[in-house]
Amino acid sequence: MSRSMISDIVAKKGEQVTVAGWVHARRDMGKIIFIDLRDASGLLQVVFLPSNKEVLAQADKLRPEFAVSLTGTVNERPEKMRNPKLLTGGIELLAISLEILNEAKTPPFEIDKDTMAVNEELRLKYRYLDLRSERMHRNVVLRDKVTAYLRNWLHDRKFIEIETPLLTKGTPEGSREYIVPSRLHQGKFYVLPQSPQQFKQLLMVAGMERYFQIARCFRDEDQRGDRQPEFTQLDLEMSFVTQEDVLRLCEQMMIDLVKAVAPEKKIAQTPFPRFTYKEAVEKFGSDKPDVRADKNDHNELGFSWVVDFPMFEKSSEGEGLQAAHHPFCMPHPEDISMLDSDPLKVRAWSYDLVLNGYELSSGSIRIHQRELQNKIFKLLGLDDASIQERFGHMLEAFEYGAPPHGGLAPGIDRLVMILANEPNIREVITFPKTGDARDPLMGAPSDLPRSQLAEAHIDIRQ
Ligand code: ASP
Repeated sequence: MSRSMISDIVAKKGEQVTVAGWVHARRDMGKIIFIDLRDASGLLQVVFLPSNKEVLAQADKLRPEFAVSLTGTVNERPEKMRNPKLLTGGIELLAISLEILNEAKTPPFEIDKDTMAVNEELRLKYRYLDLRSERMHRNVVLRDKVTAYLRNWLHDRKFIEIETPLLTKGTPEGSREYIVPSRLHQGKFYVLPQSPQQFKQLLMVAGMERYFQIARCFRDEDQRGDRQPEFTQLDLEMSFVTQEDVLRLCEQMMIDLVKAVAPEKKIAQTPFPRFTYKEAVEKFGSDKPDVRADKNDHNELGFSWVVDFPMFEKSSEGEGLQAAHHPFCMPHPEDISMLDSDPLKVRAWSYDLVLNGYELSSGSIRIHQRELQNKIFKLLGLDDASIQERFGHMLEAFEYGAPPHGGLAPGIDRLVMILANEPNIREVITFPKTGDARDPLMGAPSDLPRSQLAEAHIDIRQ
């Protein structure tokens, strides 16, 4: 008999079915054994009666997390035994035969309980068990719903999903980069992208007009707070648009997404309130205002926009200027005349989407003209040679009819974290790293054999 998923057998009362999954819990009641069977779709109560001695004897061997296949009859539960909280709470499976597919050692922590309080190092080492728990499973499913919804939403609006390289050259987003040594080119390196920023702009020059990507981004930072060395953005970019077009599109996307995947949530204010950077800092003392009416209400979502960020800020090392967001942002046309005289006063056409006090996304209208981009690089203290070496390809591309363009990149991890009411992004990333950037499950980072290092021209200094 072909296997049924647990969620599907609710509609099969009276029928004989075969199900498969894991023993979630076992309860012995005198001569009767009950188990809760779990598969990816849900939980099912299975009953082993003494009238079927053979199967009862086998059921006696069952322990939590054994993988099993079961055939039985789907019965309505007696009135008093119904559990309205479960999809399958009105039925149970009366076991006819049982096959143990694989035994399980006693798990290092209980999987039928919430694992939040379990030591995180242990949870990450046995992440495949942690992910079996109900809350973690639900988070993984929610994340899939979010990305699937966003993909469809964007496809319906003529966006196309395009992959960009992971082995690439640095793009300045203000963080340290992960570097990958080149075997074929001794002494040279790829870096992993902090974001697809330059590629998405080049795709606009390439005439793609509406791009998106569920993009992995890499930043080698000291792990302050709730950060991960790799994280995911919904990266998007559009040609021939104004800032207003980008904000409207993203705002509608968020409103529709919440309605579709988290209908229990309510958005505090629509249209999303907008603050200039200056207003936000004056009013909230922060450029990440939390606009919720009730910050303890799990179901309230406070979205807001912060616009008109400064183009530059004082460099963290000494005298000069650094880009407040990144050097590709378009300076506000009203302020361009101050670029030389008073650069710190120049606003950019750049914006953040803020949710519940978290920066969910940055974005901007970009520079698309060579001359202006070159000027910005110079103001950032780069000389001609390093501009050419690092960004010559961008300047050159802008000389071939680059269209005006802009976009943004909402963080998927943060978004799902907030929709799932989780306190940190590790709860919504299937295989996250620890606070000090290790993966206790795979054991990364790790040593490598000398021969492999030699091929990559690496010599470890003691
Ligand atoms: N690449 C930018 C970031 O990672 C987002 C954007 O400007 O679209 O913050």
